[in-house]
Amino acid sequence: MTNIPSSQVLANWVSRLVQIPSITPSQAHRLSGFSGEGIIARQVAQWFKNFGGEVYLDEVAEDRPNVYGIWRGRTNTWAAIDIHLDTVGVGQMSIEPFSGEIKDDCVYGRGAVDTKATLGIILAILEEMYHRKLKPATNLLIVGTADEEVDGLGAPAFAKWVHQEGIHLSKLLVAEPTSCKPVYGHKGEVRMSFTLLGKSAHSSSPHLGKNAITAAAKLIQNFESEHQQLQNNIHDLPLGPATLAVTMINGGTGLNVIPDSCCVSIDRRMLPGENSEAIVQHLSEIARQSSDLEVKVEVLSVLDAFYQSPDSPWIQWLVDQSTLEPGIVPFGTNAWAYKGLAEECVVMGPGSIDQAHSAEEWIAVSELEKMSSILKKWWEVSF
Ligand SMILES: [Zn+2]
Repeated sequence: MTNIPSSQVLANWVSRLVQIPSITPSQAHRLSGFSGEGIIARQVAQWFKNFGGEVYLDEVAEDRPNVYGIWRGRTNTWAAIDIHLDTVGVGQMSIEPFSGEIKDDCVYGRGAVDTKATLGIILAILEEMYHRKLKPATNLLIVGTADEEVDGLGAPAFAKWVHQEGIHLSKLLVAEPTSCKPVYGHKGEVRMSFTLLGKSAHSSSPHLGKNAITAAAKLIQNFESEHQQLQNNIHDLPLGPATLAVTMINGGTGLNVIPDSCCVSIDRRMLPGENSEAIVQHLSEIARQSSDLEVKVEVLSVLDAFYQSPDSPWIQWLVDQSTLEPGIVPFGTNAWAYKGLAEECVVMGPGSIDQAHSAEEWIAVSELEKMSSILKKWWEVSF
């Protein structure tokens, strides 16, 4: 197999995508350009059409669509690749975020590694396949998902669409920067807040009030004990134990006022097989038993864990292609929403997560070439 698409073509595609800002709206900033996925989604839909795809837009929030492109294959099996279209904000960047500059065999800018790299590679291959009138070995469903970085609305919308269409996926790749290592697991998360409701009084007569901050202190200690207990739970997955961290606290209205309210927020990382509803119940119970104050409990977000056996044939095939051992990652991905959606699921993509969300985001062209050759072998297209 030759070196097509060439490194220049791959770099140009990634650069083109970086030049279309698609910042998740809640992280928009005066330097962000336009935010949201609407513009990039419509442009990607146009390219998909130009390269022979059947295209569908699925609006998951206002002007924030998922894009689905289908290329019919030489067999009737189905494979899908999820690439999120949104990026984080650019306020923290030290380089021009949307230049897409290609320099020293790297492409620079927001989204270069997370995760426009995989989309650029795929567009380059699809373009070449179209000109050569080649079909992939399997039906291909390429998905640009909205809203991965913040609320995760795009992934469950895609899963729902696959069910509605009656598509049975045999393979599903979730694109994220893993340095081309096949990743088969990550934890899930439950985020909650607990607002303790006390009674205010003059601070010179604390006995006349009910101090919500003092009650919160006890609750925080109990959450810390819960975290310690979780560390003792032995299991045979390589993900490490579940964790519970208190991440925010907010309370008090004045130096001379007994606080009538205090809000404690937590982040509970879940293992595969843990039930988020049971966790919510359990933590609510801890909160109720920590004090005699009324507690208002809010569940802010729930993302499931992802786990797939590393011994499955496709993961083993990807291990051979990448020459890297399969692994797990500490961060969450859209795979949280895909339980049971495909026979085999993997998280994989070029470049390192250490370059993502950073002040100087970039992707090495050598990583683009590596992932391009793996995708071509997977789809059994040779040029
Ligand atoms: Zn990402």
